Amino acid sequence: MDHRFEKILLKLMPVMVLIPCLICVCLASRVTGLERMMDAREAYEELGYRESRLVELTGYEAEYAAHCAGLTRSLKGDASAESDKETGEGYLREAVTKADTDGDVQVNLVSGTEWDGVHKVYLTFDDGPSIYTDDILDILAEYDVKATFFVIGRDNPISYDRYNRIVEEGHTLGMHSYTHVYDEIYASTESFAADTLRLRQFLLDVTGVMPRFYRFPGGSSNDVSATDMHDLVEYLDSEGIVYFDWNVSSGDASGGSMTSEQIIQNALYGIEDRETTVILLHDTASKWTTVRALPGLIEAIQAMDNTVILPITDDTTVIHHSI
Ligand code: ZN
Repeated sequence: MDHRFEKILLKLMPVMVLIPCLICVCLASRVTGLERMMDAREAYEELGYRESRLVELTGYEAEYAAHCAGLTRSLKGDASAESDKETGEGYLREAVTKADTDGDVQVNLVSGTEWDGVHKVYLTFDDGPSIYTDDILDILAEYDVKATFFVIGRDNPISYDRYNRIVEEGHTLGMHSYTHVYDEIYASTESFAADTLRLRQFLLDVTGVMPRFYRFPGGSSNDVSATDMHDLVEYLDSEGIVYFDWNVSSGDASGGSMTSEQIIQNALYGIEDRETTVILLHDTASKWTTVRALPGLIEAIQAMDNTVILPITDDTTVIHHSI
């Protein structure tokens, strides 16, 4: 009897060791994720608007999920813009003092004419600023790379710092609509114009830079706009704003299922065959995999012959989808 019991015990031993190990691995990865979330919460709590910010992130992520799901539908935004506005009010005036209100507008231009015949790659980040903007900027600084950020309107002090870091560190600050709520911005040319002017003025007030590049939420080829996209393009033209789509999607918006390795692989597609590659990436709270992919992506591009990573400027060949 004892002997049989011993045999069973011996057979069970590996399982009894393996199960706690697996549990430990699962818990460790869960703890890492939670630590990151807590860091973000603490940062917001310090500034006393934790609750509204969390509501905003939740609402935004919900909207973002729709953005990722092939843009087949749009969701009505929550009270995020309003709550942001309320909580950010009072801080805004301090940030505005940094801007040049006399109209002496600086334009972040970098000449790119010396890059004729070179494969040019543009890393573009949509939807920021987010809790990962600083991580992205740190990585870009480490590799001495300039990128383009197509940002939305986030009216709070942490975001003011991030807009300013983007500008101060030599990246291009582009627009991606103030609200990112399709139903509102694409309702009519007038509402699109109002949203664009609001974001443009907001970014000018906060950073002192007049943004001149635009990326349509969902791209110019989106199928959700209630307004003819040609009319919106015409409006941007009349304002001297140049819009950019992308010709490579990293796939980082595909519902969190994409690994960092897959993002890198997607983003590198066809770079050596093209003169201009504009890569779509995202700077948003749900996209840690994008941040993790970034060093590998930059290293792979920098290892390519006759290839350079640049920020979008007036010299950049425009990439437009067909509309
Ligand atoms: Zn977007």
